Amino acid sequence: MEPSSAAAAGKDFPYTARTTCYIEVHADGAVTHGSDHAAYERAVAGVSRLFAVWPGEWSSRLFAVDDLDEYAKAHGIKHDEERTGLKEHVHEVRWVESGHEQNPRSPYVGIDVTLVCGCAIHDLSTFAAQMKEQRGWVVATSGGWGSSSGPGGTAYSLRVRRKSLTR
Ligand SMILES: [Zn+2]
Repeated sequence: MEPSSAAAAGKDFPYTARTTCYIEVHADGAVTHGSDHAAYERAVAGVSRLFAVWPGEWSSRLFAVDDLDEYAKAHGIKHDEERTGLKEHVHEVRWVESGHEQNPRSPYVGIDVTLVCGCAIHDLSTFAAQMKEQRGWVVATSGGWGSSSGPGGTAYSLRVRRKSLTR
């Protein structure tokens, strides 16, 4: 089976689809499964090659992962401004406690956040990681979050651990 090029599919390649499996072919010919950070590092170093198997209904297709940059962005190994909506900078945020009734016994508090810096949140886990680093916020990444647009821009409704919230 001659592999197709994942790079040729560009951003449309289903890098993170649940059905996409990765195989790594090592220099000694050994084949392993999976796509962890170490596999990416080996592929970048050229000591192994990564392939993706995309199962189809009648036959599976094999792709050479020949755009490792795109692969790394899709897997969050490299920051991707386009996918996450978030710049790699210190965000300028404004927040207020949300108007919804708060449960005072919950360790989390609902807040409405506006990103004055102009970023958008497309990927909550990336935003959570950035805010942890920048302000020490512990943003809940499981459960619902939402956004609403108004005259002041887009406000995101998030839940943050009360004790970690700082101005
Ligand atoms: Zn920002």
